[in-house]
Amino acid sequence: MVNPRYTLIDIILDEQTRINIINQGKIKSFRIEQFLQWIFIHSYFDLNKMSNLDKLSKEFFSQNIEILPLKISSILKEEETDTMKILLETADNFLIEMVILKDDGRNTLCLSSQIGCPMACKFCATGNVGYSRNLSSSEMLWQFLIAQQLVKKVDNIVIMGMGEPFLNFNNVERFIKALVFNKIKPFSPRRITISTSGTKNFAKKMIGLGLPVKLSISLHSPFDYIRKQIMPNSLNISELLNECDLYIKNIDKRITFEYILIDGITDTEQSISELVKIARKYSAFVNLISYNEVEGINYKSSKKEKLIMIYLDKENIKYSFRYKRGQKIKGACGQLVWERKKNQ
Ligand code: SAH
Ligand code: SF4
Repeated sequence: MVNPRYTLIDIILDEQTRINIINQGKIKSFRIEQFLQWIFIHSYFDLNKMSNLDKLSKEFFSQNIEILPLKISSILKEEETDTMKILLETADNFLIEMVILKDDGRNTLCLSSQIGCPMACKFCATGNVGYSRNLSSSEMLWQFLIAQQLVKKVDNIVIMGMGEPFLNFNNVERFIKALVFNKIKPFSPRRITISTSGTKNFAKKMIGLGLPVKLSISLHSPFDYIRKQIMPNSLNISELLNECDLYIKNIDKRITFEYILIDGITDTEQSISELVKIARKYSAFVNLISYNEVEGINYKSSKKEKLIMIYLDKENIKYSFRYKRGQKIKGACGQLVWERKKNQ
């Protein structure tokens, strides 16, 4: 199939697409529902196996609808931490990554929004890969569908893989709406988190989305001179906090600050005491992240992780600590793609 006319997202979100399919293909409306059920509920992506579909519908769907635009290139498993990393190949031969983490029997899918990332954060493997293109909303949905096929049930989705979701927000928004508003197997928006490094108007975009999706903000340092060094294309602190103000004013939801602990850079006493002030001002939740060291990148994980947690406890800041999961399988976003590219 060279250029399919429609994607699953078009079928779910655009009434006109359904009308076109019914008229052009002489397809009965219930055939569309059957087709979506096979994909969303039974995780069957092969039209030949969709036993209740008639020949005409199968032919029309195979010629006109984008099915499985991503192929699994490899799957790596880290048994001790129940983490799985999946490398996917796009139709135009780019590689992207997604990770599935298991916690108390619940599966969290971490998926990608772009191929590479233009934000070029220095500590991040994806940032070092360079940027190729945005992922389509359909490619994001298919990451979810493939993950669901692999683990049966995806409980939470975090858009924290490769890419900056707010630089591809139209597609991210369509993807989220297709997940939430499809009638076959709706996904709760409360189980979706978007993570941003801080780009212009992210608060406005979240407000415009109008869904109770969670927001995580990658703060990583409260000081501009450090942020500029490690996240050269992100907003400066005052712009970032203005966005937070706007968000808090309009959305009755706690924000989360993500904070990577990098040795000698983000883990200093001044940094952490300033982090506490900001977290307190916004009654924010802090997600401390143990830095996942990346081959070829010169940052090291902090040796003060425990001390910092004790300090946050003492200061009554609500926080969690994300340990280096999936380190053996290069768990940090973009690490696998980065290593393949680096060695080319
Ligand atoms: N672009 C968005 C979302 C993708 S990155 C953002 O930056 O928020 C998701 C999270 O992983 C971010 O908090 C990012 O800073 C973090 N991250 C990137 N590389 C990492 C590494 N090597 N170790 C630990 N966390 C990393
Ligand atoms: Fe992009 Fe996020 Fe990596 Fe920065 S940390 S380069 S914004 S994916």
